[in-house]
Amino acid sequence: MAPEVLRNIPSVNELLESQPLKTLTTQVARSVVVTRIRDFLDNLREEAKQATSDLPLPSELAERIASWIVSSEQSPLRPVINATGVLLHTGLGRAPMASEALTEMHALASGYCSLEVDLETGERSQRHVAVQQLLQELTGAEAALVVNNNAGATLLALAALASGQEVIVSRGELVEIGGSYRLPDVMTTSGASLREVGTTNKTRLQDYADAIGESTAALLKVHTSNYAIVGFTEQTKLADLVRLAAKHRCLVIDDIGSGALIDYARFGLNGEPVARASIEAGADVVLFSGDKLLGGPQCGIIVGRRSTVETIKKHPLSRALRVDKLTLGALAATLKLYRDPELAQESVPLLALLSTSLENLRLRAENMAPQLEALDSVTSAEVLEDETFLGGGSLPTQRVATWCVGLQPKGRNVNDLARALRTGNPAIFGRVQQDRLLLDLRTVFPRQDTQIIQGLESLTVPETDSDCAEV
Ligand SMILES: *Cc1c(COP(=O)(O)O)cnc(C)c1O
Repeated sequence: MAPEVLRNIPSVNELLESQPLKTLTTQVARSVVVTRIRDFLDNLREEAKQATSDLPLPSELAERIASWIVSSEQSPLRPVINATGVLLHTGLGRAPMASEALTEMHALASGYCSLEVDLETGERSQRHVAVQQLLQELTGAEAALVVNNNAGATLLALAALASGQEVIVSRGELVEIGGSYRLPDVMTTSGASLREVGTTNKTRLQDYADAIGESTAALLKVHTSNYAIVGFTEQTKLADLVRLAAKHRCLVIDDIGSGALIDYARFGLNGEPVARASIEAGADVVLFSGDKLLGGPQCGIIVGRRSTVETIKKHPLSRALRVDKLTLGALAATLKLYRDPELAQESVPLLALLSTSLENLRLRAENMAPQLEALDSVTSAEVLEDETFLGGGSLPTQRVATWCVGLQPKGRNVNDLARALRTGNPAIFGRVQQDRLLLDLRTVFPRQDTQIIQGLESLTVPETDSDCAEV
C-alpha cells in the first residue's frame, strides 16, 4: 500500500455506518466498537507505510474489522474438547464437574443463600457445616475445613501447627507438584523448618526416631503423586509414624494429594491412598485436593482431629484462603454422590470417563473413523487401541487402556492440523503420536463425538500442499 493510499482509508464514522459494523453495535458496546475500529485503522496506517499492497474495498475492510472485533471479544476462557486422553489435564481445567454440582452452584449464585445461617434455628452459624458433616461421614474424621486448594491447605496446616518448629519429612517425599509448588519452599513460607531424613529411595522408622526431639512439631508424610521411586525402596508405614509421634507428643500430617474417597482399585488403579484409610491409621490431619481424583471443584480439604482442625481454623491464613459459597455448594453436591460409590461412578464425570468400557470407546471410534476419513482435511482415519495416563500429577506410572481415532492430515502436516483444531471453534485438543493426530475417546464425552466431526469438517484445507513438504 503506497503512502498516498492513506487518505483513502475510510473514517471511523463511515465504517460505523457499514452494515457489518452497524450490526455489531447491537451486540458489542458501541464505545468498544469505536475503540477497536480506531486500533485497527492505526495498525493499517502503520502497515501502509511499509507494505505496497492495495487498500481493501471499504465493504471488505468493514467485514474484516467486524470479524476481528468478534474474535477479540470471545472470552479466552471457553469450553474445549479434551481428546488428549489425559483425564486430569491441568491445562484444560482438571476435573469436569457433576451436573448435581452445577445445579447447586446455579441455585446458590443466582440469589442469596444461607451461607452462615442455620436454617433450623435461624441463628448465625459457620459456613462449613454442611460440607463438614459430609466429609466426616465419608472419611471418618472428627472435623473438616475447606480452603482454596491443597497447596493452601498444606501451607495453612504447617503455619498453624508447626511455625517456629521442626517438621520431619522423608528425602523421598520432597515433592514438586508443578507451578511454584515445591514442598521445601512451602515449608519455608509457613515458618516451619524442614528436617529431612532418610535417603531418596529408603527411609526407615529409625530415621524419623533419630531426628525426633523437643523442637519437632510434626511428622509430615507426602504422597509422591506425580513420580515413583522404583527398585530398592523402603517407606515407613503411616501407622508406624503415628505410634512414634504419639510417644513424643507430636502430630502426624498426611498429604495424600489426589483425594481419593473410594479405592481406585475398582478402576484397575492401585496404590492411591484413600482419605478414610489415613484417618483410620491415626493421622492427626489429612490433606487433599478437591479437583483431582475426587472430581469436584478446585479446593483443598483438611480433615482430622477436632482440636487440631480448630487450631488450623483459627490461624489468620485460614481467612485468607477461605472458599466461597459456590465452592462449598459444589463440593457438598459432589460429596453427596460418594455416599453411594455406584452413583458416584455414574455421576462424577471423571469416574464416568474412567469407567467407560473399552467396548464403548471402540464402537464410537469405529463409528467416527469413516466419517472423518471422508473429510477434505483428512487422508486417513484409523481406529487404534492405545494407553493413556490419568494426568494432573496422579498415578504417573499406571496406564489406562483406551481407543482412539488416528488421523493423517491432508494438505498440512500433523502439527499444523493439531494447531488448527486447538484454535478452532470448538477448540479440540488431541495428541500427536509420530505422524498421526490421535483423538483419544477416553476423555471425550459421547455428546462431543459429533462436535469433533463438525470441527474437522469446518477446517479449510490449505491451498498449497507446501506445508506437507516441511514435515
Ligand atoms: C496436587 C498436590 C498438591 C497441590 O494441590 P493443589 O490442589 O493443586 O494445590 C499438594 N500435594 C500433593 C501430594 C499433590 O499431589
